[in-house]
Amino acid sequence: MQGLMMQQPLLIASLLTHAERHHGGQEIVSRRVEGDIHRYRYRDLAQRARRMANALASLGIQPGERVGTLAWNGYRHMELYFAVSGAGSVLHTLNPRLHVDQLAYIIEHAQDRVVFFDLTFLPLIQSVAPRVKSPKIFVAMTDRAHMPRDLDLATTLLCYEDLVDGHSDAFDWPLLDENSASSLCYTSGTTGNPKGVLYSHRSTLLHTYAAALPDSLNCSARDVIFPVVPMFHVNAWGLPYIACMVGAKLVFPGPALDGKSLHELIEDEQVTLSTGVPTVWQGLLAHVDAIAGSFSSMQRTIIGGAPCPTAMTTVFQERHRVDVVHAWGMTELSPVGTVCSFKAHQASLPVEERYALQAKQGRPVFGIDMKIVDLDGNALPWDGAATGDLLVRGHWVTREYFGGDDTPPLRDGWFPTGDVARIDPDGFMQITDRSKDVIKSGGEWISSTDIENVAYLHPGVATAVCIAARHPKWDERPLLLIVKKPGSALAAGELLAFFDDRVARWWKPDAVVFVDSVPLGATGKILKNQLRDQFGGHYLSA
Ligand code: AMP
Repeated sequence: MQGLMMQQPLLIASLLTHAERHHGGQEIVSRRVEGDIHRYRYRDLAQRARRMANALASLGIQPGERVGTLAWNGYRHMELYFAVSGAGSVLHTLNPRLHVDQLAYIIEHAQDRVVFFDLTFLPLIQSVAPRVKSPKIFVAMTDRAHMPRDLDLATTLLCYEDLVDGHSDAFDWPLLDENSASSLCYTSGTTGNPKGVLYSHRSTLLHTYAAALPDSLNCSARDVIFPVVPMFHVNAWGLPYIACMVGAKLVFPGPALDGKSLHELIEDEQVTLSTGVPTVWQGLLAHVDAIAGSFSSMQRTIIGGAPCPTAMTTVFQERHRVDVVHAWGMTELSPVGTVCSFKAHQASLPVEERYALQAKQGRPVFGIDMKIVDLDGNALPWDGAATGDLLVRGHWVTREYFGGDDTPPLRDGWFPTGDVARIDPDGFMQITDRSKDVIKSGGEWISSTDIENVAYLHPGVATAVCIAARHPKWDERPLLLIVKKPGSALAAGELLAFFDDRVARWWKPDAVVFVDSVPLGATGKILKNQLRDQFGGHYLSA
């Protein structure tokens, strides 16, 4: 027998419609690229998103076509989140920290019809534009007074505010299939070319419900939310959607991610909840320390993307009375997977035990299943000791990558995360290692294969291995291990200089270690784990 309830598709535009109707007067505050602070309300956001939806239609953007953004966290980016997906096109957030070659590859692969960009990224756009066939249209996210002049992009350059001003705010959000694609985010989290994760309206809405819950990101209409985690990296952990669902005030940091700017905004706008990777919070805490400052309104901070060190949890909680919530997720998971929220019996544990618990990545939010398996795929016990590959499945987990040009990732219906973990009897997962060969530096990925490929171009290199070495500031930095060709007098400085202009500046390894040989497994594969064990502490002892 069928249930007799209404079938209303889960659509992103409904979040905006809800926010306009029920929280129209709630504020959105943004530090702009132009340098000033901009403020308006949800009702303005909704109206301008409708104007932009009309503008996209006038540019001929069809449902399902991709619209790229190269932008910081700010209100115009938020408008595009809703205008593009709401109209049935696909919002493709581009990561400006990537090398221009990778950006060009991603734009071409996604076949972006148009790319919107913040003025900061004009030089990047000028480098990318000649390398791509699509798009033919670029839009500078600024007003007429700030438009770049005398540019020769050999393509159309439009002004964001002209598009908004030039179109009506009468637009009916189409009734889409809830399974249609809404947004696209590439991840370079594994080897080979970056892969696109294509979210749907349904997966996004279900993720929004689950991520807003008290034991997840815990967001309400009384919160002032400060997403420092970028909108170009997994939809700022879904906060633009969550904020609309609950009607929270939003504060966007724009391009200013230094400790002083962040602290000013937190205090001026009375932020209650902030989200970011540990590296960014290090800068914030160092600044607050230096000025003997404090947090007068912030109640909690969600830290993820990389392990949150207990030392950071302690400073936030004991010195600043700000609760730390450790979370784990992935681009392929939209991103929220587990959140470290105490169960009832854990809240009164002795403080040391609570800190030990908070170092774990937490328990799954409803909607995510997880398991750990051994090398043969057998499930391992949740005893807090056995470690194995972490697999997940759920409503907002990807089942294959965009373009289908990669091996389908699922194993028996489970997504292999590339993380290695243990799970305790309470279901708290803790990451102990990573089976994927990548380096996560300051919350962003560096491909070890790409680094090795560049090293191999040098005539003095016989074998090149790039590993993630722990780093006090960036969490991890690339370390290059090199076996020289016989007779080669290659020096570290020369090899490092060889990387200039071949990779993004921050991808360049910090050091080279010359070794006589590298350990090989039975099939001739380099045993990176052994090398990580041996050299992983290189930057800590340096
Ligand atoms: P991304 O797809 O860029 O969001 O990266 C996801 C990956 O980042 C995960 O598979 C982990 O390797 C790592 N990661 C995310 N959150 C955490 C965390 N809290 N602790 C340790 N690693 C994390």
